[in-house]
Amino acid sequence: MAKKKKRQKKSQQKNYSKISAHKRQGKKLIPPLVDNFDFTNSSWIDDRLPEMLWAILLVTHLPREDALNVFRKVAKYIEDLPSEDKFYDVTHTGLSKLSSERLDDVLAIITDQQEQKEVLASLLLLDELPGQEAWAKALNVDRIDDDWNLLMESVGHTLWHQTQESTDCRWLKVLCRMMAGKLQIAFENPEDSRQRVNEILYYPDCGDPSHVRASIRATEITPAPLSSNQTGWAAKFWSECLAKTPCFPINTNFPSREILTGTTRERLSKVYNLLIEHTHHTRTTSGVDARHDAVFGLGLYSLSLLQELLQVGSCNSISSRTTLRTIAESFITLAYLAKKDDAELWQKYRVYGTGQVKKVFLKLDDSQTEIPHFVDLTTLEQLANEDMWQEFQTIDLGHWADTNLRKMSEEVGVKDVYDRFNDWTATFSHGHWPAIRDAVFDTCGNPLHRLHRIPRQSPRALPDVVPDACQLVDQILEIVSQLYPHFQDRVTLEERHL
Ligand SMILES: [Zn+2]
Repeated sequence: MAKKKKRQKKSQQKNYSKISAHKRQGKKLIPPLVDNFDFTNSSWIDDRLPEMLWAILLVTHLPREDALNVFRKVAKYIEDLPSEDKFYDVTHTGLSKLSSERLDDVLAIITDQQEQKEVLASLLLLDELPGQEAWAKALNVDRIDDDWNLLMESVGHTLWHQTQESTDCRWLKVLCRMMAGKLQIAFENPEDSRQRVNEILYYPDCGDPSHVRASIRATEITPAPLSSNQTGWAAKFWSECLAKTPCFPINTNFPSREILTGTTRERLSKVYNLLIEHTHHTRTTSGVDARHDAVFGLGLYSLSLLQELLQVGSCNSISSRTTLRTIAESFITLAYLAKKDDAELWQKYRVYGTGQVKKVFLKLDDSQTEIPHFVDLTTLEQLANEDMWQEFQTIDLGHWADTNLRKMSEEVGVKDVYDRFNDWTATFSHGHWPAIRDAVFDTCGNPLHRLHRIPRQSPRALPDVVPDACQLVDQILEIVSQLYPHFQDRVTLEERHL
């Protein structure tokens, strides 16, 4: 059996809440932050980034200190205004609402040097930029080439709201609010307040850098009074970028963590044949033996599924997740039956299945529509009547053991198998969104498209399921051997890294 892989413990670096930290409310698990955080208007990418394009262009294409100096000059301009004229909103929308005199003053600072003009000229690619005319006048550019690379690069550096470049732009907003007298900093201890003010004024050279950056970001996210968001510029920006620039896939075909051989067809075929032999050796009656049939049936069924997984390309396929789930469920079922080892329960498992076949047969036979191609009604009828005439067969509409798979796994001490193999595979078999996202969508590598999803030419090669399937099949064979000693052959090869 393959050795259990030790996953690197990263508990010290975790930046997420464990399941146990969530609060249960009915059938929902609520993360700790949700109760205490207002997410309204908090999207950096969607709403706030497009409003700071000018700053983003400067801070990503000029030497950092040069860009920060431009930011400081803008803040100084605000500080020097009479109090009734002060403003703090240096977003594109905010600037466009200034009087033309103020706007020209600010843009003169922002576009002061030739290198600033060259970088900021990209803004004129955007037809709906707030204050387009004023920007064109300040930049003194009639038209520019259709070159989106500067914008693409800048947005690429700032899509993540915590990068240094993003934080610099967020600091600019905080600094301007402070200069306009619109930022209240009042800690209980006046010394703390002074320290906080200095950290903003002398950013990035005052205080512990990681603490300062975090506190700048936390301040920037709080809504400013009379904030000028909701003007629609951000949505227009993203629409224009999508319409005017192309998609290009990142091609995220993540390699699996490691390549394990699991097993070979030869080994599997040998074990399969040996299990057939063992089935014959241990048979004691030609009558119905629910225990013997279930034990060897589940063993051979799982081995057959594993054989299918070894077909070329199968182990990385979408459907292989469903196959793995079936093998895991077969293991839990067998573990449950074996632990109870009750003649009535073995029989119940069998009779329940037969009742299901009868139900399917009767429904389809009665159906006015076409019988599905994959169904053979004659086979269903034979299966429904094999042990007993179907007229005596009761149909059970519940679970065969009056429980469910999770509870069964808990009851017999194999909940770890349920946790590891059921939920993620179920996402694939139910066609839930994360499976679809993972398999058939790629991420667009154009930063101006906000990392949106684009279809793949073919499904992603998903991580190999064979090593896990081998482990489960071997656990099934272990139970077979316990119930019908001795069957010592296993499918898993010694781990071999390719
Ligand atoms: Zn795209």
